[in-house]
Amino acid sequence: MFMKTTQKGGPAEETLDPEDWAAMRALGHRMVDDTMDYIETLRDRPVWQHAPPEVKARFSGPAPAKPETPSAVYDEYLRSVRPYQLGNSHPRYWGWVTGCGTVMGMYAEMLAASTDAVSGSFSYMSNNYIEMQVVDWCRQLLGFPAGASGLITSGCSASTLIGLAVARNTMAGYDIRARGMHVAGKQMTVYCSEEAHSSVQKAVELLGFGSDALCRIPVNESLQIDTVALRETIAADRAAGCHPLCIVGVAGTTNTAAIDDLNALADICAEERCWFHVDGAFGAWAAIAPEYRHLVAGMERADSLAFDLHKWMYLAYPIACILIRDVAHHRNAFSLTPTYLAHGEGTAGLTGVDVPWLSDYGFELSRGFFALKAWMTIREQGMEKYGRLIQQNIDQAHYLEGLVQDAGELELALPVSLNIVNFRYVRPSLSETRLDALNKQIEVELQEQGIAVPSTVTIHGRKYLHVAITNHRSRRDDFDLLVREVIRIGNGLA
Ligand SMILES: *Cc1c(COP(=O)(O)O)cnc(C)c1O
Repeated sequence: MFMKTTQKGGPAEETLDPEDWAAMRALGHRMVDDTMDYIETLRDRPVWQHAPPEVKARFSGPAPAKPETPSAVYDEYLRSVRPYQLGNSHPRYWGWVTGCGTVMGMYAEMLAASTDAVSGSFSYMSNNYIEMQVVDWCRQLLGFPAGASGLITSGCSASTLIGLAVARNTMAGYDIRARGMHVAGKQMTVYCSEEAHSSVQKAVELLGFGSDALCRIPVNESLQIDTVALRETIAADRAAGCHPLCIVGVAGTTNTAAIDDLNALADICAEERCWFHVDGAFGAWAAIAPEYRHLVAGMERADSLAFDLHKWMYLAYPIACILIRDVAHHRNAFSLTPTYLAHGEGTAGLTGVDVPWLSDYGFELSRGFFALKAWMTIREQGMEKYGRLIQQNIDQAHYLEGLVQDAGELELALPVSLNIVNFRYVRPSLSETRLDALNKQIEVELQEQGIAVPSTVTIHGRKYLHVAITNHRSRRDDFDLLVREVIRIGNGLA
C-alpha cells in the first residue's frame, strides 16, 4: 500500500522540483528538438571555434543568490556554451584519440539522470544487472574467460588504476592492504614501453611504487616494446634485488596505434611470474573488426585489461571498463564493508544477496549509471554493425594512407598499423626545423578555420599531423578534403 501524506500548516516547505511543470516539460521538448537539429546538421558547421573574450568573461563572478528562469539559463547555454565545445562529435574531428557520442547514448544519459540512478552499492537493482551485463558483453567480445570479473569506470585512467592496484595487491606476496608499501623487502618494479600512456605512470605513482619504479623500455622501428630489451632489464633488475611485478602491454598507443607483441609479453609474464596488464584504451576494440582481430592476439591472455567505451565504442563521455581475469584477486583488492553498508545478510531487500555490490570491485562507492548508454546503444545498433564500424575506421585510415602516399607534398611517418595516420607536409627546400613549425601551423590553421581537427605528435624527433579515426560520422570524402586543405594551407605558408 502506498501512503499518502498531507501537507501540514506552518511555513511553506520548498523543493527543487519545477514550480510550473507544464513550462518545464515544454522546455524539455525544446531541448530535445534543438539537440536533434544540432546533431543532424553537425557536418554543416565548423568543427571548432574560439570562445570570444566576451563569452569567456561570462564565466566569472560569484554563485547567483537569486533564481533565473529555466529558459533563461538554457538560452545562455545555447549562446555561450554549446558553440564553443571541443568539436569531437563532428565528422572531421580526429585530434588526439577522442570519441564522438551517439544519440541513443544521449537519451540514456537523460533517463539515468531522471531516476538519479546510483550504481555501486545495493543488490536488487536493475542498474546493477545492466552494468554486469555490459561488463559480461565486453568480456565475451574481448575474449576473456567466463568467470572473469570487471567494472564500468569513468575512463581508461581509472581502469588502469584499478588494474594495477589488483596487480600490486596480488603479486606483493604479503598483505599490502594492511601493512602498506614500506615493509616490502624489495623495490617492486613495473615495465612498459616508452610509448605507453601517461596514465600508467600516474597509476604507478598513486599506488606508491614511485615513478622511478616504472621502467620505460625502448621501442623498435614500429614503436612496439622491444621484448629483448625488456627481458634484459627484468634480469638486471632481479639481479639488483628488485621484485619485477607487472608488465604493461599496449594495444594501440596514443601516438601511432602501435600494438605491442601481446603474445610475447604474455609468455614473458608467465616465465617471470609477472602480472600482465594490457592498456587497450581504444585498440582493444580491433578485436571485433572482422578482418583485424588478429592484430590484438594475446590480449585475451592478460590478467587485467583496461579499455574505454568513450573512444572507439563511440559512446558519450564518460565510460570505460576494467576486466580482471580472477574475480578473487579483484575482490581481495577492493572489498570492504563498514557496518553502515552491511550487505549479504539475507536474501531480500536492497542489501540482500543477489548480485554482488559493485563497490567491492573498485575504489568508488557512489557512481553514475554509465552502463545504460552502452546497453541501450549496443542493443539499438547490434554488435555486427559495431564490428563493421571499427573495420570502416581502419579501412579509412588505410584510405588516407593511400592519399598521402599519392601526394608529392605529403609524407607518412610510418605505415598505418590500425586507425591512426601520422603524416606531414614536406618541401625539399625547407629545413627540418622549419618543417616542424610549418606542420604545427597547418594544424592550427585547420582548427582555426574550422575545417578539421587533427592534432600533432612528435615521432622520431619530427612533428607530424596526427589523425586518429575513432569517429562513426567520418566518410571517405572527409579525408579527401583534409588532404586537399593540408596541401592548400601548406603551399600558402611555405
Ligand atoms: C586515452 C588513453 C588512455 C587514457 O584514457 P582516458 O579514458 O582518457 O582516461 C590510456 N591509454 C591510452 C593508450 C589512451 O589512448
